[in-house]
Amino acid sequence: MLRLHDTATGTVRPLEVREPGVVSMYVCGPTVYDVPHLGHGRFVLVFDVLRRYLTWSGYRVHHVSNITDVDDKIIDRANREGRTEAEVAAEYEAVWYEAIDALGVRRPDADPHATAYVERMVELIGELMDAGVAYRTSDGVYLDVGRVESYGLLARQTLESLQAGARVDVDDQKRSGHDFALWKAAKAGEPTWPSPWGGGRPGWHTECVVMSLDLLGEGFDVHGGGQDLAFPHHENERAQAVALGRTFARHWVHNGWVVVGGEKMSKSLGNFTSLTDLLERVDGRAYRLLVLRSHYRSPLEVTPATTADATAALERLDNLARRAGEEALVDVEPDPAALVSFRAAMDDDLDTPAAMAMLFDLVRAANSALDAGDHAAAARSVATVREMASAVGLALRTDAAALDHDVAAMVAARDQARAAKDWPAADAAREALVARGWVVEDTPAGTRIRRR
Ligand SMILES: [Zn+2]
Repeated sequence: MLRLHDTATGTVRPLEVREPGVVSMYVCGPTVYDVPHLGHGRFVLVFDVLRRYLTWSGYRVHHVSNITDVDDKIIDRANREGRTEAEVAAEYEAVWYEAIDALGVRRPDADPHATAYVERMVELIGELMDAGVAYRTSDGVYLDVGRVESYGLLARQTLESLQAGARVDVDDQKRSGHDFALWKAAKAGEPTWPSPWGGGRPGWHTECVVMSLDLLGEGFDVHGGGQDLAFPHHENERAQAVALGRTFARHWVHNGWVVVGGEKMSKSLGNFTSLTDLLERVDGRAYRLLVLRSHYRSPLEVTPATTADATAALERLDNLARRAGEEALVDVEPDPAALVSFRAAMDDDLDTPAAMAMLFDLVRAANSALDAGDHAAAARSVATVREMASAVGLALRTDAAALDHDVAAMVAARDQARAAKDWPAADAAREALVARGWVVEDTPAGTRIRRR
């Protein structure tokens, strides 16, 4: 049985699901106002690995991840660029999904958008007002966290100690510094929705509590996100559910930071400026492997050096797959004993570094067996490598060299078709490339492709 760290208890404990064989998981998605950063890439990969491993283990996973499409940062960008919030959000949502696809991350089963849930959020805020745990100010509606039992659970601190550590809040209308906005009264030039408390928009913390409960129901299994979301975002989501007597997430899973040079953020020369930048320079599978080779709760160093290292490891995997093809190894069953060890590592709070060490030991074993002409042993190791790789969503490629010629021909065909304004032919060439795992981009210099 999978044991996972739970932020609410601070311990690694069994994942005890609500319904046998089913895992319902809500992971906070992006606010679509800019290109995604490296940390976004890490969290989607961590939860994609969790989802795939659960699926591989026989669970049916219901995965929901939201798109925050109304927010201060979206409004700021829209105002700065003279566009609507919807245009900005649509643009960066497309960029988001392109990056997700390039990482080989499965899209969620549902991706609720905040703007589609405003009415439900107004209802929930009304319930909190009726329950006497929320109050109005001149700029909106706030939750009185002092009225919520066990506030501070995810911060692993009491409200008293949180308050002792808090800086003085400038907003003197709030009863306490940790009270947070459920409803933000409309300001000029902002999108607005009607409510009993006047026009305005809901706060971010209300968005996720409403959408998770609506789509997954009370007592859903896993709520996840980056560790920076545990407090206050997840604490505040939970506070609203608890204040209304609703059972919220059973297990809280948070992944660690991305660091560059040991620091959370760095823009030194040569470092990646965004996930989009990384994906232009590195195979998305190499980022997955880099993520897998570090424990999900540890800081992850993402630099050209660490991604180059992961790329080299990925090449060893691809080379083995290619070699297995060339040697026409037959399909055999994976080694059950090796899979038992793999499962034990994964079940131990997703010990992917140990699991990847096993995988690369098998890569070495398979190559040695091939060198020695022992095809039976090699086939067994290769089958086991494939099985482990598929459990964590790592696709092996055998086609890199063989396809080069065909791919070049398709790129040329697309450029010719575009020059001749033959759009159906250009689209067909694009689709052929996409089907072979390439991301296709149009540049002034012609069609540019890179590995998904
Ligand atoms: Zn959220």
